[in-house]
Amino acid sequence: MKLWEVGPMFRYERPQKGRYRQFWQLDFESIGSDSPMVDLEVIMTAIELFSRLGMSNLEVILNSVGCPKCRPVYRNALMDFLRPRLGELCDTCQNRFDRNPLRILDCKDEKCKEITEGAPAIFESLCEECSEHFKAVTSGLDSLGVVYHIDKRLVRGLDYYTKTAFEVQSGDLGAQNAVCGGGRYDNLSEAIGGPHVPGVGFAAGLDRIVLTMEQQGCSFGKEPSPSVYVVCIDEQALASAVDVLYRLRREGISADMDYMGRGMKAQIKSAVNGGSLVACILGGDEVARGVVMVKDLEKSQQEEVSLDQVVSRVAQILR
Ligand SMILES: [Zn+2]
Ligand SMILES: [Zn+2]
Repeated sequence: MKLWEVGPMFRYERPQKGRYRQFWQLDFESIGSDSPMVDLEVIMTAIELFSRLGMSNLEVILNSVGCPKCRPVYRNALMDFLRPRLGELCDTCQNRFDRNPLRILDCKDEKCKEITEGAPAIFESLCEECSEHFKAVTSGLDSLGVVYHIDKRLVRGLDYYTKTAFEVQSGDLGAQNAVCGGGRYDNLSEAIGGPHVPGVGFAAGLDRIVLTMEQQGCSFGKEPSPSVYVVCIDEQALASAVDVLYRLRREGISADMDYMGRGMKAQIKSAVNGGSLVACILGGDEVARGVVMVKDLEKSQQEEVSLDQVVSRVAQILR
């Protein structure tokens, strides 16, 4: 099963800089298969999404967090490595040492970073199954020409995560943002009382995506604009102008008009600047004759059309 969702999420802990208590998250999940080709597909989906948004220098950061068979072996190796310098780690990491030593690898504290520099990497302790899985993912990325690098510091704090862990980063060196984080969670279903169901996916914060796009000057697309602008020249035409406006809207044609009593020139300018393609112009004179001036703003051509024909003529021009 392949799913995606987007919606507001709420963070319990105090938000850090650039993060909000209510934030918007986008998720992609593929549930039911343990094939490494699904990991590849999820990573490619992330890359495709961010490249279509126009982000530059996309790079995959990759690691494996192993499985319940091989992770304890690594955990012990890491603890043996850290134990002699335990007293030099930051307070948080000293607390983590027994509970969650893997998390010490992603501590941002300079001293902790320096101490873990030479730490063993988990991919040296992977069991055969995890190792094969990891190789299949990396060779898939190789053959698709995706830039990635393996980072032993990319770890997860929870036991239900297995095998592939990844992040996608974007931006020039020094100004890189992680735009999504993901990986495999084959033991999640069981951890919450369900049957064994493998799964892999990623989550991305929309706030972070928008921030990154702004930093990189990406396009957010064209502002939506009404197709038709109804230009009302004088007070006598107001009722008919409103009538034309709703005839168009009821046929599913997006239309807008001026409600501020501005002059014709200002209204035409609004229509053009707002991206409208057609202007329907009418004043007392047109109303008296039962006609509307329909102007194709792109071609700068105009013609008189009877009131009953306005909608079909406008639809023709827009087609
Ligand atoms: Zn394993
Ligand atoms: Zn630390």
